[in-house]
Amino acid sequence: MKKIQMVDLKGQYEGIKNEVNHGIQEILEDTSFINGPHVHAFQKELEEYLGVKHVIPCANGTDALQIAMMGLGLKPGDEVITADFTFAATVEVIALLQLTPVLVDVDPETFNIDPEEIKKAITPKTKAIVPVHLFGQTADMDAIMEIAREHDLFVIEDNAQAIGADYHSKNGKVSKAGTLGDVAATSFFPSKNLGCYGDGGAIFTNNDELAHTIRGIVNHGMYERYHHDVVGVNSRLDSFQAAVLRAKLKNLDLYNEARKESAIKYSEAFTEIEEVVTPVRRGDCDTHVFHQYTLKIGKGRRDALAKHLQEKGIPFGIYYPIPLHRQKAYVDERYNEKDFTVTNQLVQEVISLPMHTELEDDQIKYITDTIIKFLK
Ligand SMILES: *Cc1c(COP(=O)(O)O)cnc(C)c1O
Repeated sequence: MKKIQMVDLKGQYEGIKNEVNHGIQEILEDTSFINGPHVHAFQKELEEYLGVKHVIPCANGTDALQIAMMGLGLKPGDEVITADFTFAATVEVIALLQLTPVLVDVDPETFNIDPEEIKKAITPKTKAIVPVHLFGQTADMDAIMEIAREHDLFVIEDNAQAIGADYHSKNGKVSKAGTLGDVAATSFFPSKNLGCYGDGGAIFTNNDELAHTIRGIVNHGMYERYHHDVVGVNSRLDSFQAAVLRAKLKNLDLYNEARKESAIKYSEAFTEIEEVVTPVRRGDCDTHVFHQYTLKIGKGRRDALAKHLQEKGIPFGIYYPIPLHRQKAYVDERYNEKDFTVTNQLVQEVISLPMHTELEDDQIKYITDTIIKFLK
């Protein structure tokens, strides 16, 4: 059995080596390091793949979120509702722009923001909702868009973990995650489902005017050379990263399929185990691309299991160990512990198993056998 890794980027590289090396060599030869042909081509290819009018590449996923919020013209004091159970980047950019983050609880089955909790948190100051498509499964976008329309709010999708996931709307329409709200942000951090070999990110929107605004913001607020109309930032995807992403985008559906197959094998192995709750796939299983394969371990045994996996050399992750509302940077006297019962429980129960495109059957069997034997 090959050594088990949480993410196997080297194994994945073997399959795209020629194309990646060729692209990088080409950039070295023509020195098109910034805004070169590979960046432009990747942008077009991703627009086509997602079925979205505009992809604006940028330096990382955190920038993408910040720039999306700047593009919408959110102002200090505006309230932005997001999930308590997510990576800190989401709430960080809200705070950085001096907007007011309003954290709400999540759904215990999908781990995604709970639309009923969003409704309760709306005030006259609320301007936007940021659903995070956590672990690879799209949030309940039908319900979220309905709330947004009713209260005239922007929806900014944090799609860093769900690129390639399909969302099946109630009206029968199938759309890619990240194309449903007003604007979306994604990350190409190496371990994401579509990851580069450094930092990268992108913003998606179907709104022409917003796309134009954002293209200026990522480039120092410049719409005409050396005319700075708004305060912008410098946030670029470099050409080397774009070359890597082009090679990987061609395989994204295959990669996501491989993840899903591994997830199904994991879940099948655990069906009889009382303490283990396997991930719920809402609707068609295409709606989950398994950025993480996350179990809930009951009866207070999560930490003991984690210790055991460590002893057995099986990597794992605890995403996330502390709710955002209890992080020092984001504590707020308005928060009430009883409003976060789901998140408070999830942080004690979740554990994510190795998940990547190169997992082999004997590795999955070793991992599941080890867990089952321990819990019995
Ligand atoms: C990774 C991630 C980000 C940030 O992306 P970076 O490219 O690392 O800046 C934002 N939100 C979520 C949910 C993420 O998982």
